[in-house]
Amino acid sequence: MMTVYLHSRKTPFASALQAGLIKSGVPVTQAGADAEVLLILPSPSVAGDADGHYPHAILEELPDIRQFPQVRRIILVSSTEVYGHGDYLCGDCGPIREARRYEKHLELKRWELFCPYCKEMLMPTPTREVSTPAPLTDWGLRLLALEKQVEGYCYQSAASVTVLRVSYPYWTEPTYLALHPASPLAHFCHTLLADQAATLFEDGYQMRDMTHIDDIIQAISAVAHHPYPPNPVYNIGSGTRLTLQEMVAHCQDALGKTETPYVFSSMILHDQPRHSFPEIERARLELGYAPSVSILEGIYRLGQALNQTASLPN
Ligand SMILES: [Zn+2]
Repeated sequence: MMTVYLHSRKTPFASALQAGLIKSGVPVTQAGADAEVLLILPSPSVAGDADGHYPHAILEELPDIRQFPQVRRIILVSSTEVYGHGDYLCGDCGPIREARRYEKHLELKRWELFCPYCKEMLMPTPTREVSTPAPLTDWGLRLLALEKQVEGYCYQSAASVTVLRVSYPYWTEPTYLALHPASPLAHFCHTLLADQAATLFEDGYQMRDMTHIDDIIQAISAVAHHPYPPNPVYNIGSGTRLTLQEMVAHCQDALGKTETPYVFSSMILHDQPRHSFPEIERARLELGYAPSVSILEGIYRLGQALNQTASLPN
């Protein structure tokens, strides 16, 4: 079993990840000198504003690789956010990777993407690793820069670098609500628990895949133990997807708040993809990755954890 060193700021996600790794039997060391696997989890130094902009650079977060003489594998936890809009399909023209949304369309509430060639409405398809990254957010752009920087590590050490692009990570403990309002799922649970209406953007039919922490740990473990991962980048997701409307409805069920309405915001978020779900076949085939927690199961678990906390005496 390879010894893992987690390099991260002290965030709720980092704490949950560290605890989850230890719980699943992965040896985690506090000393870089012993580590065989360097696990880098970037996180913004300050909470982003409502538009997801993070004013602080994260490039200074990278550790000095010379402090890790035993390291054989470097794993960077990146995000599918680096893809931007991701992959779409036109019924007439085939796969489209350069689709975008225009301000004038958003103002007319034309939420879906249209083919740049024949103007037909596009079908979202799972985004593959070969898709050209085109981040919509500062955070996505910074992560992409970090991916390039970490790639450079393999020239300075004997370690190989693997990037995991994780789709909307979440964990099923009360600390997850710290991500409200940036994460829709945290926002839904936070507002519903307070008997307030959750806010949905656009028409609520945006599709998302979300990755439970157990599956992120599974992917990290698979990379750490793989003799040599054939590819430098792998998408990680649950392989399931829900619309945000479905997500909020399942949160209502899980929290027993079926009477609480949700409202639509008239605000247009220009830096959000319409749909976002990754193709995870590469990780399945090459790492033996098999996601174990569907989004539905995850929402149920999160609801249970939150209901238990709410029923505890103060
Ligand atoms: Zn077309």
